Amino acid sequence: MTTDGLSPAQPVRRLVEAFHKLPGIGPKTAQRLTFYMIRMPEDQVRSLADALLAVKERIVLCSRCYNITENDPCSICHDPGRDQSFICVVEEVLDVVALERTRSYKGLYHVLHGVISPINGIGPNDLKIQPLLNRLQDGNVKEVVLATNPNLEGEATAMYIHKLLAPLGIKLTRPARGLPVGGDLEYADEVTLSRAMEGRSDFTLP
Ligand SMILES: [Zn+2]
Repeated sequence: MTTDGLSPAQPVRRLVEAFHKLPGIGPKTAQRLTFYMIRMPEDQVRSLADALLAVKERIVLCSRCYNITENDPCSICHDPGRDQSFICVVEEVLDVVALERTRSYKGLYHVLHGVISPINGIGPNDLKIQPLLNRLQDGNVKEVVLATNPNLEGEATAMYIHKLLAPLGIKLTRPARGLPVGGDLEYADEVTLSRAMEGRSDFTLP
């Protein structure tokens, strides 16, 4: 008998709440997942728990580009074959994955980890914008392509960064408008993404 006042169902509630905190998981899905796990064989649950912990223990953010990596700096920053004078600024790690799939982009990246979104309480200081500025101080970078998503928040974030970087005299560009409007970079097919990068144009303020 427990004396801490916890009901036997407490572990169930705890897991439902944990699932519910994940993006895109509503209360019903959280419950469904929890009851699915209760029925899962123990070895599968253990392997899932191990995978979750491994992600936490072994994956870090690259101290240069903020991509996820097992080794810091990441394999892209570390690769002497990549064009060190070219940085592509993206919102999320998944955008790096999408651009790497094209195999045509040979520069470096900078992952912001989000966009400026006042409605969600996300300001410039919540993103990796200052580290981007720091990276550009040594004058080695010749072009920064602002590849945030072509939607309201993505545009506003690109504009904010443009204002900060303009005084540095670095060429600032934006991917061509081949990307579906309102569509996320990560969902664009490889050909569209390659063309958007090749056809990028100077970033001009409206
Ligand atoms: Zn890196």
